[in-house]
Amino acid sequence: MKRKIIAAAALLSAALLLSSCGEEAPKVKDSIKISGQTMGTYYAMTIIPGQYGNQADKFKQIAEDEFKVVTNAISSFDPNSEISRFNRWNSTEPLKISKYLGDVIQEVNRQALRIDGVLDISVAPLVNLWGFGTDGRPEKVPTQSQIDEVREYVGFDKYKVSYIGGMAFLEKGDPRVKLDLSTVGEGLGVDRVAAKLDEGMISDYLVSIAGAVRTRGTNPEGKDWKVGIVNPVQPDGQPFEIVCPHGMAMSTSGSYRNYFVDENGKRYSHIIDPRTGKPIEHHTVSVTVIERSALVTDTLDTGLMVMGADAALKWGDEHETAIYTIEIKDGKPVGRHNRYFEPYLKCDAKDAQ
Ligand code: ADP
Ligand code: MG
Repeated sequence: MKRKIIAAAALLSAALLLSSCGEEAPKVKDSIKISGQTMGTYYAMTIIPGQYGNQADKFKQIAEDEFKVVTNAISSFDPNSEISRFNRWNSTEPLKISKYLGDVIQEVNRQALRIDGVLDISVAPLVNLWGFGTDGRPEKVPTQSQIDEVREYVGFDKYKVSYIGGMAFLEKGDPRVKLDLSTVGEGLGVDRVAAKLDEGMISDYLVSIAGAVRTRGTNPEGKDWKVGIVNPVQPDGQPFEIVCPHGMAMSTSGSYRNYFVDENGKRYSHIIDPRTGKPIEHHTVSVTVIERSALVTDTLDTGLMVMGADAALKWGDEHETAIYTIEIKDGKPVGRHNRYFEPYLKCDAKDAQ
């Protein structure tokens, strides 16, 4: 589904160990590293299991069961998911859905409306039209009249969630409506795993799916968990910035991996501006948000990406939310952040002083 954040903890802690030569070697706690694939991308976890010991298989199973709950509800690529069933539902009659899916849609929309609806899960037909959805790549760039036609059934008022006696229902105002929740899958996944680990009294962990991360406590060396923001110019190279989320959720939206190039060499992002029906065109290539839940950050990051760096940083100031942006200026990546992000650029109490 999206880009990779590098969990740079191991790499950085090795460097710190070297630099502390001569001092007493710090105690390193036993930890378990688990990785795998989900949602068309990669996940990684580092857990300090404490009393549970090295039960890597058990933790892997817990995580993958949680990811399955998410994909069963929202995967556009699984024909048996609830959202795929709804997207095929060629009717304006309400369709019964899980309470989980109903609640996710409600929360995503609550966050989306905070950013003026530039994150809009009903953009699915536009995403498909531009070739980033389940229908594969387009032959050519859609015409304005094709875009206008599709926009007739895109918008917050084109579908509705309702609850009756503890049951949830989803209905379309037009049978052609389709929903796309893929941008929040990673956030939902890491939130669920974090909740499970919290329930099991695991107090030190880092869980990431692509660009969505949850951390708690400290790393095996007893230091803050460190997470890298991918360099948009060299996604597989060194991180562009190192961040310490201090127990908060963090996610990054990046438009540098998934795009298509037309016959004239013009690049089209997979992020659609619902106000125009077209892919975003500005030079902002990465937006990182830190907040309490990864569902919130994963909803906001894509929306703030639509808005672009200036508006995203301003929005963060007005809403006391930590934002970090990367723009391409003269071919080079340039990072900016607002003051609410500053505490997260300081790692370990020592550096923070
Ligand atoms: P990124 O790393 O760029 O955030 P994601 O996979 O999280 O990538 O989100 C991008 C996906 O979200 C697109 O492929 C598309 O399916 C969907 N999408 C694109 N534009 C919007 C939008 N304005 N609102 C909601 N979803 C969108
Ligand atoms: Mg997102």
